[in-house]
Amino acid sequence: MTPDTYLTALPRGWAQHDGTLGLYLHIPFCVQKCRYCDFYSAPADDAARAAYVAALAAHLRAAAPAARDRVIDTVYFGGGTPTLLTGAQFATVMDTVRAHYDLAPDAEITAECNPVTNAEHPAEGLLAAGINRLSIGLQSANENELRLLGRLHDYRAFARTFAAARRAGFSNISVDLMLGIPDQTRESLSHTLDAVLALAPEHISAYGLRIEEHTPFFAMRDRLVLPDEDTEELLFDDLVQRLGGAGYAHYEISNFARAGYASRHNLRYWQGREYLGFGPGAHSYFHGTRFETPKSTADYISAANGGDFPATVADPHPITGREAAAEYVMLRMRLFEGLDSADFAHRFGTSFESTYGPLDRLLAGGFLTKHGTRFAFTERGMRVSNAILSDWLDFGTDEEEL
Ligand code: SF4
Repeated sequence: MTPDTYLTALPRGWAQHDGTLGLYLHIPFCVQKCRYCDFYSAPADDAARAAYVAALAAHLRAAAPAARDRVIDTVYFGGGTPTLLTGAQFATVMDTVRAHYDLAPDAEITAECNPVTNAEHPAEGLLAAGINRLSIGLQSANENELRLLGRLHDYRAFARTFAAARRAGFSNISVDLMLGIPDQTRESLSHTLDAVLALAPEHISAYGLRIEEHTPFFAMRDRLVLPDEDTEELLFDDLVQRLGGAGYAHYEISNFARAGYASRHNLRYWQGREYLGFGPGAHSYFHGTRFETPKSTADYISAANGGDFPATVADPHPITGREAAAEYVMLRMRLFEGLDSADFAHRFGTSFESTYGPLDRLLAGGFLTKHGTRFAFTERGMRVSNAILSDWLDFGTDEEEL
């Protein structure tokens, strides 16, 4: 199989693309694992990073023919810790993207950034490579919470990184926060929000801590004092109120943005639009098929260097029928814009209301709104969206009806 055909030979699901595509580039390196993290990443030396960048560039070149009819409008360097790469390595990757893909002139190009790498990582190098959006992982402005999470930076390192990025010229910066940290209180969250809002980032994400298997937190879970359910709800309410009051739109369950600064790449995931992932552990959704790249950096490098690109595709799973409709509902309803029932009917040949209704009780109870053909959760509905969605998706229509 030639590089030209390895992606086009995938089984196809209900492919409905709009002529665009996002690229996700996984950088599987971290200085040290945080205690809660189950992402695929490990420490690496300079030689390993250089070998990885060469493999990533080879893989990007090989996949390009399959994407020749698409405009790339988002690129996302995630990890791991992308900012363990040098500015020159970012430039190598972005030059490869520009040379082999149709990159939109106004593409959103994001790099996740860990404050611990700030000292050796001038923001100018990222800007010069074409990165125009930074997503800086803070999690908390409280030193005790950062230590508990196993983060290697303190708040001052974050503030230095943020200031350096602004000085360099970054005008689109997101800050990652965490809710449900052990020992977190409304006061400690308030302190974190004071500190972050004073910096006026364009975007803020706040995900709830989950204790994942195979992490140090999982091993020590009996000793962790996690906020109880009521406190978690209060923390979330405080977050929504503070950020709303400061002018951030709550556009997705865990994401807030100033006008015009919603994450275009992440919107792609929630809107069920396609993307190609590169690097070990990366996920893709292409031609209606989901697949992943096996989680081994060594295997990835040898597959890419040996031209064995089919080895970078694991578990291809075409999304069709009832599963496609369920994904559509589950992902779109994470967004405050909700879903358009006319679009649902057009895609799946059946009505949203009859598939998941009756919806009167949810509308009357203030959990759901309807404007024209568009349904969306209210803030109240968002809080119980898991329960509503599992009810809908368990009792939705049979595959044969779609
Ligand atoms: S820096 Fe990010 S990817 Fe790396 S271990 Fe910590 S949370 Fe995980």
